[in-house]
Amino acid sequence: MSKIYDVIVVGAGPSGIGVAALLQQMNCPSYLILEKEEVGASFLRWPKEMRFITPSFPAQGFGQTDLNAVVPKSSPAYTLDMEHPTGEAYAEYLDVVADHFTLPIEKGVKVNQIHKKDDTFSIDTTQGSYQSHYVIWAAGQYQYPDLKPFPGAELGVHNSLIPSWQELEGDDFIIIGGYESGMDAAFHLGRLGKRTTVIAKTNTWELDNSDPSIALSTYTYGRIRHLFDSDLLRVVGNTAVTRIEAVSSGYDVYTSSGKVYFTTERPILATGFSGSTTTIENLVTRGKHDEVLVNDTDEAVATTGLFLAGPELRHDDHIFCYIYKFRQRFAVIAETIGYQLNLDLSILEEYKRENFYLKDLSMCGERCQC
Ligand SMILES: Cc1cc2nc3c(=O)[nH]c(=O)nc-3n(C[C@H](O)[C@H](O)[C@H](O)COP(=O)(O)OP(=O)(O)OC[C@H]3O[C@@H](n4cnc5c(N)ncnc54)[C@H](O)[C@@H]3O)c2cc1C
Repeated sequence: MSKIYDVIVVGAGPSGIGVAALLQQMNCPSYLILEKEEVGASFLRWPKEMRFITPSFPAQGFGQTDLNAVVPKSSPAYTLDMEHPTGEAYAEYLDVVADHFTLPIEKGVKVNQIHKKDDTFSIDTTQGSYQSHYVIWAAGQYQYPDLKPFPGAELGVHNSLIPSWQELEGDDFIIIGGYESGMDAAFHLGRLGKRTTVIAKTNTWELDNSDPSIALSTYTYGRIRHLFDSDLLRVVGNTAVTRIEAVSSGYDVYTSSGKVYFTTERPILATGFSGSTTTIENLVTRGKHDEVLVNDTDEAVATTGLFLAGPELRHDDHIFCYIYKFRQRFAVIAETIGYQLNLDLSILEEYKRENFYLKDLSMCGERCQC
């Protein structure tokens, strides 16, 4: 019979690396990270020009850790000499962290499905089957774009599949979706002197909300502000795209307002991600926002021993789609597993001191009125 690991972590992005670094520091005797590509693979796929929205600033001894760090006392700003890292640079930071903690990562292993029998998970992968008592699902969203948000969407191209805005041919584009990805596309195309029409269900650029998971981040707004006064950006707000049809010289984009927009270039879909948890649908139940239902230690309600780390995590109205948010739950997961495995939990004191441990969610969601 094959070895049964204590814990298997799926994915070597910020979530997988961050939570595994804790298992390592708790001296977990047998755990493994399974990664279908390489460390930071999602970031290596970012369009070349894309940069972090959340700024990195060197961590220092005053209890202010870099917003994009995945372990305390580390800092992408310091490691990379960048305030807004590129995807490629951030993958390098994750590699440095993985090397520092000598994390056991098996690369090129794609998890296809997971089943649980009694107290053991069987993890079927492209390289055979693995077994463990706990699974931490940290496979992210970025590599699972929503490619079918409406009929005819296949005629467009999802923004996550564009390697570089510079290489895109054409001068006039329709971008569907007005959150960070859509506005980032508009910014980069505008810089190249190309015109864009952003069609968005929500006017993110007008929302008065301090949470960058809901309103457009200040970084992005600051970058596109000047485009609003130019003829390079047209925004069509409070409007849903209902379908795309190919016509002889281009594409007709139909909208909820009844208006049809024509473009000669493939429309750009900035319509978001369906997420990786569809791979483990047999082990989860979902709530009213389609989120995986978890208990207060991020363990799937439907399957004991299965934990969710990363941007798909949601507790009621609390959305964890930034690293500075979801990293505060790594210690909660590790504490739960570590307690059951009788591991050394003393490292958690440091995580608490460094604001890397958030248990009481009533502390979040504070809205600034100034
Ligand atoms: C436009 C845009 C801008 C963003 N900007 C920011 C920002 O400024 N700040 C911020 O904090 N966040 C930002 N984010 C969000 C950030 O990218 C995600 O929160 C982050 O990537 C999530 O980390 P993760 O480790 O959970 O997932 P990922 O980084 O996606 O890592 C998942 C890993 O799992 C692997 N994997 C996937 N499926 C499998 C499988 N079946 N088997 C094995 N391995 C698998 C992948 O190869 C990948 O390496 C942005 C996202 C987008 C789309």
